[in-house]
Amino acid sequence: MALTSQQREALRGKTAQRVRGLAGSATVQVMDKARRLQAEGRSIVDLSGGDPDFPTAPNVTEAAIQSLRNGFTHYTPSRGIPALLKAIAHKLATENGVTYEPAKEIIVMPGAKQALFVAAQALLNPGDEMILFSPAWVSYEPCAALAGATTVYVPMNMDTTVETLRARLAATISPRTKLAIVNTPNNPTGQVWSRELLQVVADAAQTHDFLVLSDEIYEKLIYDGQPHISIAGLDGMWERTMILNGLSKSHAMTGWRLGYIAGPEPLIGEMLKIHQHSSTCAASFVQEAAVAALNGPQDYTDWMISRYKARRDRLVADLNAIPGIHCDRPQGAFYAFPNISGTGLSSLEFADRLLDAEGVAVTPGEAFGPGGEGYVRLSYANSDEMLQEGARRIKRFVDNLRD
Ligand code: PMP
Ligand code: GLU
Repeated sequence: MALTSQQREALRGKTAQRVRGLAGSATVQVMDKARRLQAEGRSIVDLSGGDPDFPTAPNVTEAAIQSLRNGFTHYTPSRGIPALLKAIAHKLATENGVTYEPAKEIIVMPGAKQALFVAAQALLNPGDEMILFSPAWVSYEPCAALAGATTVYVPMNMDTTVETLRARLAATISPRTKLAIVNTPNNPTGQVWSRELLQVVADAAQTHDFLVLSDEIYEKLIYDGQPHISIAGLDGMWERTMILNGLSKSHAMTGWRLGYIAGPEPLIGEMLKIHQHSSTCAASFVQEAAVAALNGPQDYTDWMISRYKARRDRLVADLNAIPGIHCDRPQGAFYAFPNISGTGLSSLEFADRLLDAEGVAVTPGEAFGPGGEGYVRLSYANSDEMLQEGARRIKRFVDNLRD
């Protein structure tokens, strides 16, 4: 319905103040815009969102269909169905070396993002501070802000040494520090944290008594043989860490919305109350499909990893061949994060103008916090043809800038 500008203003005035100041998700917005332009008939190379182009594995889809046919279409226990909680606990124990009681220390939610939101609501008071290692994924800071907490940033990149990290962290911690989020492999840089770097955070968390949320959603996507290490497994960390994970990336299941959080019962128990009041439970048949995904063969995931690795190598080479652009080799996840400052454009200008001129959708680095300006993020969860076409168009765009 057409509203007058006065009506619009009046309605906006009735919305909650903490939300009015909030920016939407840059990743989701660019992804939505790219899909809208595509639907309007424009030739778009969509390198924006981290959404695998691979279909979900057939055995998982079959399990969901079977579940629907069996009439498994009602509320489930709020925490999750026992078979899925057990499968997650088994995965965490065997792959990550950390043990959790399925009936007490894990909650299944509709997406890891939902679990992040719930964790922030459960843990953060107004005035608390949360530490992010920057650049960091776009939804951490807003979730803290919605809980009334402020975010402080520790700069971090592939070259950050243990000593530098320790010094920067020490300079950032305050008596109000409540929580730090560690994300390995990292979105957007692809950095995989070593045990030594994680130990710096673990030492600080124990000395200064803060909690750690360990976002491990990209744990499977590591390309050069480094191990994925969960900070929860380091000495003294289980009791102050929550693990955030899900099937979106590891099993190409973004649209199914299936994530989970695991941690000590006193923390998880508080989150369960919010989960009961907000989602009730994750979708019933999706949970049964998730059991098939976790307990079934993992060769499909292995195949996707090999495809991502080949794409990474080609894309990084193509980007580095463009004058004015420099791209470090991401060690994991499925994003390239090239430095575009040599083009003279800000990350927002670069992303906007690239979309207008060449129809290539990328996410501006500034959306990932203070460490992101000067960079753009390209998702290589995309076909080889699209990635090569994207690199060609980006080269033409940068060439035209210089002319
Ligand atoms: N953490 C990171 C770092 C992400 O990039 C995403 C986006 N998929 C999520 C969490 C949330 O994933 P989902 O809600 O799809 O489970
Ligand atoms: N996590 C993906 C990304 O960063 C999907 C969008 C979102 O959830 O932010 O692009």
